[in-house]
Amino acid sequence: MSSSSSSTTTCSKSLGKWFPTATVRKTIALNPSETCSLLLFYHYVRPSMSQARADHLKTFLDKMTAETKVGGRLRCAQEGLNCTISGTYSQVRDFSDRLKTWGTSSLPDGVKGPFEEGVDFKYVDSLPPSRAFKDVKVLPVTELVFYGVSESSAPLSNGGVHLQPKEYHEKMEEDNTVIIDVRNTYEADIGKFNGQEKVGGAEYIDPKMRKSTDFKSWLSKEETKEQIKGKQILMYCTGGVRCERASALLKNEMGDNVKDVYQLQGGIEKYIQEFPDGGHWRGKNFVFDKREAFGVKSMEGVGGVVEGKKKKKKKKKTDEEEEEILGNCCVCAQKWDRYIGKKKCYTCGVPVLMCDKCLTLKPDKTPGRKLEVRCTLCKEEGVEVPAADLELTANGIGAVKKDSSQNAAAPSVLKWGGGQAKEKKEKRKMKRKMCKFGAECTRTDCWFSHDTCKVTTGNSQKKFNVDS
Ligand SMILES: [Zn+2]
Ligand SMILES: [Zn+2]
Ligand SMILES: [Zn+2]
Repeated sequence: MSSSSSSTTTCSKSLGKWFPTATVRKTIALNPSETCSLLLFYHYVRPSMSQARADHLKTFLDKMTAETKVGGRLRCAQEGLNCTISGTYSQVRDFSDRLKTWGTSSLPDGVKGPFEEGVDFKYVDSLPPSRAFKDVKVLPVTELVFYGVSESSAPLSNGGVHLQPKEYHEKMEEDNTVIIDVRNTYEADIGKFNGQEKVGGAEYIDPKMRKSTDFKSWLSKEETKEQIKGKQILMYCTGGVRCERASALLKNEMGDNVKDVYQLQGGIEKYIQEFPDGGHWRGKNFVFDKREAFGVKSMEGVGGVVEGKKKKKKKKKTDEEEEEILGNCCVCAQKWDRYIGKKKCYTCGVPVLMCDKCLTLKPDKTPGRKLEVRCTLCKEEGVEVPAADLELTANGIGAVKKDSSQNAAAPSVLKWGGGQAKEKKEKRKMKRKMCKFGAECTRTDCWFSHDTCKVTTGNSQKKFNVDS
């Protein structure tokens, strides 16, 4: 309690309509000689906190992240926390130690604070200093993962059974089993659990999502129900948080029509830590931090610049060491699994893979070539209406065409501030609709007008994803 005598200023700056009360603060970069550690965790507080208590938690985090000098992304809701924290080895541990103490001061003996016990803190150490976030963002949200679902309609207590990686691994080899990827297709494009299929294990299912809210519509389809009927269900995501609500939703929807439902405790992140040879994992694990994505052989991730050819040759890997590349460049279809250049699908806005050669040719800015820059889903579904010509519906969950052209439109889109934003901005100015939630709106992808604050940070929206 002695060290933090100097007062720390936490500037609360508006992040525009999506996060009017978010806190953003630059962090001090790590020294080149220091290594970076990441702390990933989520925790649902049950029962949910009151709004006043959640506000208190946010204020505590504003101050505490400044004092511990960590960077990161913190989603803060009445239902709990979902965070990715970066800093030195001791900074991130200082953060978790302090978080454990929150809300414990006036508790009776034996009663624990909301984060004091049972939080699965995952640490990733010895990363290059460039893997640290350059700022910290504390974002008040209504759901830790935006499914558009309330606790009462899909209680977490009804979710799938948590299995540790080793138990989950064994389940993957059982028959009459399906394994549902609870991530977006652009994540699954570069890595997934399908190695078990070779040994007659669980059948891999991609719900073909552009964002988490698509899960509900996938689940409600008759063909989905037919596909998973009578099966043992395994679900997984990057760090586990997305499966919590998704597994409860699935159990609600399917009831006795499926066998037991399991979710991977700690997600892919933890599984890869426990299976250094990758187990049944293939390819790279897409992550929402500066590692970008990592494979079994390179836990530090691939984030940053693309290695030059010369450099690659120097440390030539043996075939055995060479990691499997599952993705393809969206333009030329060569093997490629790097999300660089911030390229987005022309028709739905999700990130697309574009190889270094194609990047230099700028197909996304070349008239007549723009449709080449589409994600795997849009190509598969024959979607041709530009994302900029779509209007979001149902407060950001769905999308519809603005005109009556015959071309197919994406059923849902990801909205970003950057990229093709200029044109969209103009269009939006023309037809401003007020969001019914106004400044209270916490939707991460709401693009209705929230008059009380203006959009201040163009393309920072994509950085808000925290999945741990
Ligand atoms: Zn290419
Ligand atoms: Zn697309
Ligand atoms: Zn809104």
